Amino acid sequence: MAKPLIAGNWKMHGTAAEAVALSRQLVENEQSFCVQMAIFPPTLHLGLVASELSGSSIALGAQNMSEYRSGAFTGEVSADMLKEAGCGYILVGHSERRTLFGEVDSTVADKFKAAQNSGLVPILCVGETLQQRQQGLTLEVVAEQINVVKEKVGIESLCHGVIAYEPVWAIGSGEVASPEQAQLVHGAIRELLGSSGIDTSLLYGGSVKASNAVELFAQRDIDGGLVGGASLEADEFLKIAQLMT
Ligand code: PEP
Repeated sequence: MAKPLIAGNWKMHGTAAEAVALSRQLVENEQSFCVQMAIFPPTLHLGLVASELSGSSIALGAQNMSEYRSGAFTGEVSADMLKEAGCGYILVGHSERRTLFGEVDSTVADKFKAAQNSGLVPILCVGETLQQRQQGLTLEVVAEQINVVKEKVGIESLCHGVIAYEPVWAIGSGEVASPEQAQLVHGAIRELLGSSGIDTSLLYGGSVKASNAVELFAQRDIDGGLVGGASLEADEFLKIAQLMT
C-alpha cells in the first residue's frame, strides 16, 4: 500500500503573509507522521511557501496548470514552471475547475499527461453531482472521468498518479459522504484500475474534518484525504494528518 497522503487545497484564500504563517505553523508542528502531507497554496504564493517548506517533509503542490508546455497562452502556468517552483503534485480536474471554468474530461486528461511529462504527480479529482447521485449514476460518472484519462495515458501511467474521489455535493458543503458511500466508490475505482492499481493512492475529499476523518480513513480503499476548508487551520489539518497515522 502507498504511504497515506493528506493534501490541503487552500483554494483562492489568503495573503502572502498568511500563506507564510500557515506553512510555518505546519512545519513547526509536523511530527514523524507515517503520512505524506502536501499543501496546495494559491499559485502566486508557491515560491514563498516553497522556501518555508524547505528541509521539511511536507510536499508542495499547485491547484491548476496549463495542458500546454509553453507558448502564447496568456495567464497560464506550465507544469515545468510549477516543477521549477518546487511543486511535486498538481490537482487536475477539481470540480471547481470543471463546473466554474468549463474544464472537460479531455482537457483534464491532457493536463494529467502534461503533468507526468514534467515529473509532477497529478491528483485526478473525480466525483458526481447530487443530481447524478440521485439518478443512480455515481459509478458510471466516476468511471467515465477516469476512463478518459486512462485512454489518454494508459493504465500504468494512470496508476502512477493519485485519484481523489470528491462527490461534488460534499465539497465545501459541510455534508460528508458516509464511510460506506465513500468506500463503495473507492472499491469500484480500485476494481477499475485492476492489478496495476493495487498501490495507487485513492483519496477521499469533501468536507473532511478531524471529527469525521477516523471513520473515513478506516475504510479499506481510502488511502488519505484531499482537504479544502479544514486545511486552512494548521491545528485542524495537523490533527487530520495525525488521525491517518
Ligand atoms: C476540496 O477543495 O477539494 C475540498 C474537498 O473542499 P472541502 O474540504 O472544503 O469540502
